[in-house]
Amino acid sequence: MSIKLGIIGGGQLAWMMKDAANKLGVELIVQTPSANDPAVSIAQHSIFAAVDDAAATEILATKCDIVTFENEFVDIAALSLLEKQGVCFRPTLAALAPLLDKYEQRCYLRDLGLPVPHFLALSGEKALESQIEKLEFPVVLKARRHGYDGQGTFIIHDFATLSKIVNQSRTQFLVEEFVPFTKELAIIAACSVNGDIVIYPAVETHQEEQVCRWVIAPAEITQEQNLEIEAIAHKLLTSLQYVGVCGIELFLTAEGKILINEIAPRTHNSGHFSLDACETSQFELHLRAVCGLPLTNTGLRCASAMMVNLLGYESSHCNYQKQRQQLASIPQATVHWYGKTEARPGRKLGHITVLLDQDPLNQTRDIVHKIESIWYPPAKTCQNFP
Ligand code: ADP
Repeated sequence: MSIKLGIIGGGQLAWMMKDAANKLGVELIVQTPSANDPAVSIAQHSIFAAVDDAAATEILATKCDIVTFENEFVDIAALSLLEKQGVCFRPTLAALAPLLDKYEQRCYLRDLGLPVPHFLALSGEKALESQIEKLEFPVVLKARRHGYDGQGTFIIHDFATLSKIVNQSRTQFLVEEFVPFTKELAIIAACSVNGDIVIYPAVETHQEEQVCRWVIAPAEITQEQNLEIEAIAHKLLTSLQYVGVCGIELFLTAEGKILINEIAPRTHNSGHFSLDACETSQFELHLRAVCGLPLTNTGLRCASAMMVNLLGYESSHCNYQKQRQQLASIPQATVHWYGKTEARPGRKLGHITVLLDQDPLNQTRDIVHKIESIWYPPAKTCQNFP
């Protein structure tokens, strides 16, 4: 009998589970706000409700054996009542709880002895100036909850701007040092129900205006740095008793120091290359982990790979057929189009993976340029290369 898996969230991360679900005989049932959301087309059944609607999750839970997450903006207090009544969440709510608020996440990582930037939570009680006196500008201001794709993250160069944003908003913020990184890295790790951990090759990610534009796999880092990152993943997943796939975003500094930026308790954009480039995709691995199946090989099937996000650059209902056809004709490329009915600036509409036979670094500029010049109007193509 097939496993029925409930997924809270029906965006592209749930949509990309479709092939693995078919392969493993897992039935997907999604809870997602809109009938236009990508995963509705691949789910056996959909419940249309916000991801933090715990009453809808209660209905979802009656239709499936296990509930997992593609979106962490959930109401954990309300869900914990369901967990007490026997609903099987994977990862468990105890594993998710320290990760949902960026400040609490930083505290959890620091208390585990893992490397994080200097940070503090802003309190409305004290004068702003005295709270940030230990940090130098620029600083990074982050909404503690519900930030994604750089929304809610601000790099701030002076006190007046900081004070304006903080005073005009009711959001709770975290402030941290600006890390002058030389590279941004990410790793996808998975942990099974038995505690077995597997890890994908570390990747280099490139963000513009806080949004990921492209990813190179594997990252060009030293053996020691690779081992250090793997040790971080092991310590974190073991401590959380985590089950499923988890993304870990990191900074690498000029001195070779590694700092954790953020933990995403789900499949992650930096692991999309695995769909085409790895023995097992991150989506299959997540299904395997949460369904209690053994974890399989995360190795690359090619020397290296690049993933470039296709971000919206206008408000439109266009399906971009012509650009997608041109992109698909790039050698060794696969275009993944999420089927969103509406494009908006910055919205993730799809991605393209290019498999490479050799070290990607000398080809990066050409590949990104080729893809972005097909996809974006001229002014929006990537200008900054590392
Ligand atoms: P989100 O959760 O919205 O993705 P992040 O916290 O991951 O936000 O930040 C998005 C991007 O902003 C990062 O990938 C990085 O480029 C930049 N950034 C975030 N924090 C810092 C920091 N402390 N120092 C320098 N850059 C940062």
